[in-house]
Amino acid sequence: MRNRILNITLAFLVSLIGTVASGAATVYAQKKKNVLVVGGGSSHDFNRWYKNEDTKLINSIPGVHAIYTDNTDSIRYYLKNMDLLVLTNNQPIPLTSQQAIEKFVAQGKPLILLHAAVWYNWNDWPKYNLAYVGGGSKSHETFQEFKNIVINTSNPITKGVSESFIFKDELYRHEPHPAGLGINVLVVGLSLETGKVYPVVYTVNHNVSRIVGITLGHDENSHLNTDYRKLLTNSVNWALNL
Ligand SMILES: [Zn+2]
Repeated sequence: MRNRILNITLAFLVSLIGTVASGAATVYAQKKKNVLVVGGGSSHDFNRWYKNEDTKLINSIPGVHAIYTDNTDSIRYYLKNMDLLVLTNNQPIPLTSQQAIEKFVAQGKPLILLHAAVWYNWNDWPKYNLAYVGGGSKSHETFQEFKNIVINTSNPITKGVSESFIFKDELYRHEPHPAGLGINVLVVGLSLETGKVYPVVYTVNHNVSRIVGITLGHDENSHLNTDYRKLLTNSVNWALNL
């Protein structure tokens, strides 16, 4: 009797895992580039800004299909059918999904890392900051207006973006790590309070993958801003080589 219950329980678990896996596999669009946006964690309204603004914006790009999840355990299932991963979360990522992301990038698939995802979030995944973010942020200046200045106007990611633009955001004190891969800074943020300058949009010098880091994006001040939206759209187009 006990064995029978155990067998039934095991059968149920196996069918449940199968449902999760196949459920994840059916959400991609054939003949389109598929994008997974991952959110969730603390200090931000991920549903409002990353799901209902950014993911919708990415979905409006011709030839692109974007979905959003805040279930980091599901990343490993989704990635099998994805062409681009956009991380915005600061909640933990389980080891199995960390490994799936590492495999994804090693295959040459691109990453876009937004705001909270360029922080030093995960002590259990030191490779993340060194190999993908190219460094990271551990603090930010006071939430207030600062000036964004495009310092590379010939890059496809800054095409059509205002040469300088101001909005309220957290200016991350972002620093490339000396042991990281190196970054190519496209836009800097100039603090109008302290006069300090930090990278806010950059690409990472990865050997096989296209990686974009954007430190902007705390709330509506950035997500509804025309230049932020242009930077994100351009980044998706560049990452997917569209
Ligand atoms: Zn923030």
